[in-house]
Amino acid sequence: MQQAPSAVKVKAIDCLHFINGEFVPSVDGKVFNNINPATEEVLGIVAEGGSADVDLAVQAAKKALQGPWKKMTASERTAIVRRIGDLILERKDELAYLESLDTGKPLWLSSSTDIPRSAYNFHFFSEYIRTLSNEASQTDDVALNYSIRRPLGVVGLINPWNLPLLLLTWKLAPALAAGNTVVMKPAELTPMTATVLAEICRDAGVPDGVVNLVHGFGPNSAGAALVEHPDVNGITFTGETTTGMAIMASASTTLKRLSYELGGKNPNIIFADSDLDEVIETTLKSSFINQGEVCLCGSRIYVERSIYDQFLDKFVEKTKGLIVGDPFIQETKVGALISREHYERVTSYIELAKEEGGHILLGGKRPEGFEKGYYLEPTIIVGLDNGCRVVREEIFGPVVTVIPFDSEEEVIEQANDTHYGLSATIWTNDLRRAHRVAGQIEAGIVWVNTWFLRDLRTPFGGMKQSGIGREGGVHSFEFYTELTNVCIKL
Ligand code: NAD
Repeated sequence: MQQAPSAVKVKAIDCLHFINGEFVPSVDGKVFNNINPATEEVLGIVAEGGSADVDLAVQAAKKALQGPWKKMTASERTAIVRRIGDLILERKDELAYLESLDTGKPLWLSSSTDIPRSAYNFHFFSEYIRTLSNEASQTDDVALNYSIRRPLGVVGLINPWNLPLLLLTWKLAPALAAGNTVVMKPAELTPMTATVLAEICRDAGVPDGVVNLVHGFGPNSAGAALVEHPDVNGITFTGETTTGMAIMASASTTLKRLSYELGGKNPNIIFADSDLDEVIETTLKSSFINQGEVCLCGSRIYVERSIYDQFLDKFVEKTKGLIVGDPFIQETKVGALISREHYERVTSYIELAKEEGGHILLGGKRPEGFEKGYYLEPTIIVGLDNGCRVVREEIFGPVVTVIPFDSEEEVIEQANDTHYGLSATIWTNDLRRAHRVAGQIEAGIVWVNTWFLRDLRTPFGGMKQSGIGREGGVHSFEFYTELTNVCIKL
């Protein structure tokens, strides 16, 4: 698949908070261990933030809103944003290594996707914001209206562990380009690349207090303290739907602006007229890349009955060829799951599939020869229907269900029969059907004959319980700015 990068041996780092331009421990000195999911060994220690640390970070961010950052011209600010991307590329081998150590994902994947796309987020948003102009409208000969955009203020960025740097930079880049100051709260399971990113921001010339980082957990910890803080103007959150619900409840007391990218249980719909080899090649990725720990993974596979057996034969055969194991070996296609807790959650769904009458066609267990590490074979389950929990609930691991269908109407109904609505993939060579089905699937993102192909100008996000709002292009800036209409009587 991808070229393996030259292996650089990089040592894991201990992670401190970054507040007002300095790396600092927690006020109360608390720390927790960072575990390597591939070996179960301790990688290092992480400062465990609480409300006192969050308050220091928020006060620094609030003060920085009035400092040199505010006085910069747009071109001065966007040059710094661009430089962050340049410095990520300069340190890409180190960042890729740390990302794979933290997550258990293959090094080739961190090197080819996570890190370069993180750099591109800064390059893209630093340029894109310069293309935007404000609205103006004339009301007959009575008045002239125009709008001005200002930064939202202090923004809290709360992130998950599956694509740590990529998703953090997807928020940080537009937030900075629009002139905000931020407090980042990365996932407790993956603190390392966020820590290096803070250093990179400083080296790129971001003034003190503009970018702050507080490590810690969610409830009763740094995450909750950030959401509850009265001086935080907005929270942009990516994570589980249930966490989103908890955040919405606690953010209500200070009435913050919220942006939500939540869970998914995405349909991958394969019509008989599609090009099966192309389908299989992409479906391997949309099922198992990053150990299936991607919110966009197409874990519900629906196949038109006339090609169901043929699809399964080929899909099973190709999946058998995916090497599971050490993230730092070039041939590895599937690394380790993120944690013991998550491994147990994912494997509990495999047990549930058996109870619900499903048949484990492939995988479903630890690969042989691994005593340590949260490894799981790519798993294909058949014999379940849409009523089963395994088909309805997000598993977020290398586990897919395959279900046959007979008609377009039936598969649209099945695809939409979920609380989620993040993404969908449709495979067909019938142009009219592609448009027809795409227009009826309840999802924020629909791919036709492809998956995970992104243009950063386009809206990204989910409907139903998969999210609120959109990110990408102008949509990101709608979240990160406040709009004022100025009305002048003529
Ligand atoms: P999670 O919701 O458990 O945690 C995400 C972040 O929220 C972490 O930093 C965590 O510490 C913090 N958090 C937890 N409880 C909190 C609280 N009460 N208040 C404030 N912060 C809190 O999610 P996860 O397990 O890290 O990530 C996996 C989930 O993320 C999956 O559901 C996946 O689909 C989703 N995800 C969605 C997208 C998307 O773009 N829609 C992208 C990636 C991942």
